[in-house]
This record gives sequence, C-alpha cells and structure tokens, in this order.
Amino acid sequence: MPSQTPRVAVVFVLTLLVLASSSLAVAAAAQAEPEAAAPPAHGVCGGGGADAGGGCHSVPRALRLKLIAIPAILLASTVGVSLPLASRSVPALRPDGDLFAVVKAFASGVILGTGYMHVLPDSFNDLTSPCLPRRPWAEFPFTAFVAMLAAVLTLMVDSLMLTFHSRGKASAAVAHHHGRHGSPPPQELVNRHGYGHLDDMSEPAASSEDDVEAGRTQLLRNRVIVQVLEMGIVVHSVVIGLGMGASQNVCTIRPLVAALCFHQLFEGMGLGGCILQAEYGARTRSVLVFFFSTTTPLGIALGLALTRVYSDSSPTALVVVGLLNAASAGLLHYMALVDLLAADFMGPRLQGSVRLQLVCFLAVLLGAGGMSVMAKWA
Ligand SMILES: [Zn+2]
Repeated sequence: MPSQTPRVAVVFVLTLLVLASSSLAVAAAAQAEPEAAAPPAHGVCGGGGADAGGGCHSVPRALRLKLIAIPAILLASTVGVSLPLASRSVPALRPDGDLFAVVKAFASGVILGTGYMHVLPDSFNDLTSPCLPRRPWAEFPFTAFVAMLAAVLTLMVDSLMLTFHSRGKASAAVAHHHGRHGSPPPQELVNRHGYGHLDDMSEPAASSEDDVEAGRTQLLRNRVIVQVLEMGIVVHSVVIGLGMGASQNVCTIRPLVAALCFHQLFEGMGLGGCILQAEYGARTRSVLVFFFSTTTPLGIALGLALTRVYSDSSPTALVVVGLLNAASAGLLHYMALVDLLAADFMGPRLQGSVRLQLVCFLAVLLGAGGMSVMAKWA
C-alpha cells in the first residue's frame, strides 16, 4: 500500500496534537490557580455564577454523577462510532448502494452541525468572555480570523497532499492524465471529488489502470479526511469533558450526563460514516474508534483530577480553548462543506438521481438538525 507512510505520519501528527491539546489544558489549569484562589475574580466575570448556585453545589454528589458519566459516555461514543462500521455487514448498506449515500449525507450533516452549532459558538463565547482583558480580545474578531485561517490551511493540506501523491504517481506511470481522476473505479468507492469532473461522465471509459489509480487517490483522500476530521472533533470532545469534570454544580451536571451521551452518540455516527468510507483495516479502524470514544471520558477524568486548579473562566483556559475551538471550527466547516457534502452532491452518484439527491438533503438536515438541538446543552 503506497499510502502506508503518509497514513502513519498523519496518525502520528494526530496523536501529537491530542497530546499537545491536553498538555495545553494542563498548563492552562496550572496557570489558572491564582485566579481560582481569588474569589472576587469569579464575581466580576460571572464564571463562578453557575457554580455558586445555592443547593446545587455539592462535591460528593457531583463526583458520583461524573463517575456515572464516564462509563455511560464511553459506551455511547463507542456505540455511535461503531454503528456505521457495523452496517458493513448489512447488504443494503454496501458502499455502492443508495442507502450508503444517505447514511453518508447524514454523517456529513452531523459534522456540519458540530462545526457551526457547537464549536464556533463555543469559541465566540470563550474569546469574548468578560473574564478576558478587553484590550486585544474585544477589539478584533479572533474567532472568525482563526477559523478562516484554519479553513485555508485545511485546503492547503488537502491540495498539496493531492499534488504530491499524483506527482509521485505521474513520474511512475505514463502521463495519460487530463485530470480524469473523476471517472469511477470498478467497485471500491462511492464518493469521489466529482467537482469539476462532471463532464468526465460523458467521456468514453478510461483505461482500467487509470480507474484503479483514481480509486487509490480517492482512497488516500478519504483517509486524510478522516484523520483531519477526527482531530477537529476530538478538540470539542475533550473540552466538553473537561468542563463537566471540573464543574461541581449538580444542577448543571445532571442533565449534561444524558446530553453528552446523545452528543457523543450522534457525533460518533458522523465520524463513523467517514471512517467507513476510508476502508481501513480492522486495526486502524479500532484505533480511530478508541481515540474518539475515550476523549470525552478522558476529558472528564482530567477535569476531575484538576477540579481544584482548573477553572473554565480563567483567562488562560479561555484563550487556549477559544483558539483551539476556532481552529477546529474552520477545519470542520471546510471538511463538511467541501470534502464531504460538495464532493458527494456534485459527484456522479447523486447527480444521476434527483430523488436520491432530495433524500440525501433530508438526511443532511436531519443530522445537522439533531446536532443543533444538542447545542442547547453542550
Ligand atoms: Zn457539542
């Protein structure tokens, strides 16, 4: 498999980023200590307002809820992300079937909803918090700026990766290549970046070698998409877990347990749909599933361990989490709109059937709508 090396590299980068984000959170927590120790700071920016609520503040009851939340969310995440993968065994859900396109559209809708309804507003909230000094933060829309840069960066990675891959191939193979990588390979994949290749459909069938090559390029793309997506989603998952783990307010944690279970179930289905398409072997698939399933419980555990020092209204935590959220919002928007939705809807499969297109639109709205409902909680 020629994509072995880049795949390993990307997985490595992913791991590194997760580690970096968690260590940043720890660093933020460590620096948050002085603020947490000074009670008036809470009153000023209202961070402690929710936690200060009379009968709601109870450390042992909060701890019990969190200990229930960890296995429950772990289970929900695992079920969510495995559900699309398990669908492999259902004959109607074969990658070249119509139902698969609908499942994928739903998954893309969930990713889109996560970016627009969860991650972006979170970042705005963090970076415009009254706990931050007005000077730089209130005077410039940092969230939008960072999200924009992240979207462009994602495009860059996406396009450069494609260039290097096809250049490596072109030097090896005969240059019989007029951007024909849109023509469908024998079986392998449903989705391809049909963008700008619609005319290919009317062209006479390309040589089968070209088709196999096109399939390979698309597969590599799908794999990069999954890894970058997981990275974008994981940030949000860690942060919501961290917030819950650090909270001592029983009244906010109780509804949050159920909400986060659904949250992870849904998000897992979104990610699972994309993992399915990357056609990984069992081992890589289980690594991706494991990563996604453990991030929120890990965030809760981290928040629990740091309850005394971590405060999500400390300026450092707000800036770090706000900027991370902004970057993953940009990444998720680009991925959902360009790599997932546009690629599918402009691709030959959906362009060939208005009925299927409408059903897929409905699936997108369902996924994005479900995610939007959950934005009320986390
Ligand atoms: Zn969320």
